[in-house]
Amino acid sequence: MASEKLVITNIGQILSGKLEAPILDGDCVVSVDGRITDIGYAKDMDLDNATVKVYAHGVTLTPGLIDSHVHPVIGDYTPRQQQLNWIDSCLHGGVTTMISAGEVHAPGRPKDIVGLKAMAIASQRWYENFRPSGVKMLAGAPVIEDGMVESDFKELADAGVKLLGEVGLGSVKAGETAAQMVKWARKYGIQSTIHTGGPSIPGSGLIDKDVVLEADADIIGHINGGHTALPDDQITCLCESCNRGIEIVHNGNERAGLLAMRTAFEIKQAERVILGTDSPAGSGVQPLGILRMIAMLSSLGDIPPEIAFCFATGNTARMRDLDCGIIEIGRSADFVLMDTAQHAPGRNMLESIHQGNLPGVGMTIIDGIVRTNRSRNTPPATHMPEIIE
Ligand SMILES: [Zn+2]
Repeated sequence: MASEKLVITNIGQILSGKLEAPILDGDCVVSVDGRITDIGYAKDMDLDNATVKVYAHGVTLTPGLIDSHVHPVIGDYTPRQQQLNWIDSCLHGGVTTMISAGEVHAPGRPKDIVGLKAMAIASQRWYENFRPSGVKMLAGAPVIEDGMVESDFKELADAGVKLLGEVGLGSVKAGETAAQMVKWARKYGIQSTIHTGGPSIPGSGLIDKDVVLEADADIIGHINGGHTALPDDQITCLCESCNRGIEIVHNGNERAGLLAMRTAFEIKQAERVILGTDSPAGSGVQPLGILRMIAMLSSLGDIPPEIAFCFATGNTARMRDLDCGIIEIGRSADFVLMDTAQHAPGRNMLESIHQGNLPGVGMTIIDGIVRTNRSRNTPPATHMPEIIE
């Protein structure tokens, strides 16, 4: 089979997704068969035999954004808000990978152990077999219930399940039981996340810092609450008392999110900060949620936007062991081309984001394939990339 070679030239700037070097030198990125093969200046690179050429017109290239916390159910439909094509809408907001924190909105979701395992395995399969609009949906995240034993976790892992849904959304609320199950999950290579804060909808409960610390899940899920945050002293304590992922979500308390981010910087552990929307939820679906988080944290938290982009790309990829999220040779060719929104203040895109404005998405690319052109959801970008052959 002939290989597919994508060449993107005339890039204005490349955001790497890596905290240690968030902006890369170069104006050109090449991928072959969905993997990045070269990054640098076009004059020094082999651009021959491209199957697709994109002329970027000076816009910014970033890694595809990762939403670390979503609640999908099936296909591109959410029963939570009776909404179709929400994943496609998020792709128009630059999100190319989503991670399920549990398919909890399935009507009649099974809570018996056989049933919850069956649903997790089925969810993992149907999103692996069908990617809505090309978006990588990592799903099949069972919500743990009392009575599960070690062999259940082994069985799930053997069947391809790699995630636990939010601990605390099921009957397991006690730190000790949760800790045991999280350990079993980890032993078999299943990552875990825990609901943090007050109840989100009728039926869920309070998970405070003591339960979070005892359970010791890999990710402190929505440390800023989903929706209700813990008291400030508990949030700072969580950041300071463990080394797990500090996940800040759109559908949480924004002030608490800023507190968590600032605490992570104070303790010099910004690499732990990752972003999610926690949608679909009672607050709905936010197609621009990740971009809005980047603009909010950068502007109100006064941090460079290129650093805020790392929270939604490289940090998440590293913490969750994904092959996307960083502009690096060998990684997945998942990109967003974006530019200053038309008439946005600021001398350039980063400055306008730092002032709290959203950028305009001009193109999304997943696995080296162009998936969308001008976003139907962001404000229009000033300059637009263009497919020239
Ligand atoms: Zn939650």
